[in-house]
Amino acid sequence: MNGIPNCPKCNSEYTYEDGSLFVCPECGYEWTAESENENSEDEKVIKDANGNVLSDGDSVTVIKDLKVKGSSLVVKAGTKVKNIRLTDGDHDINCKIDGIGAMQLKSEFVKKL
Ligand SMILES: [Zn+2]
Repeated sequence: MNGIPNCPKCNSEYTYEDGSLFVCPECGYEWTAESENENSEDEKVIKDANGNVLSDGDSVTVIKDLKVKGSSLVVKAGTKVKNIRLTDGDHDINCKIDGIGAMQLKSEFVKKL
């Protein structure tokens, strides 16, 4: 555990530490330990359609009709969703919707209440 990560650009393992920087001799990329940590943590910022930052437990409104995968149900625009949970992935919100059940939403299709 020397703590020097592989290059985030080219994945080279020949990286070295230069002061507070990490340097990749293969592609010339330089980065800091801090930003590398931010990228690898699952604390990415998830924003709604208006650019407001969403957090676990927020309530949101769906802004367009959304088909529920694998069923004929549709979540109507204007549906309120309480107590969302943010996840990592293409659909970045986990939630439960009355009458539909547990499902996943994309943050770009919701508005924070
Ligand atoms: Zn590199």
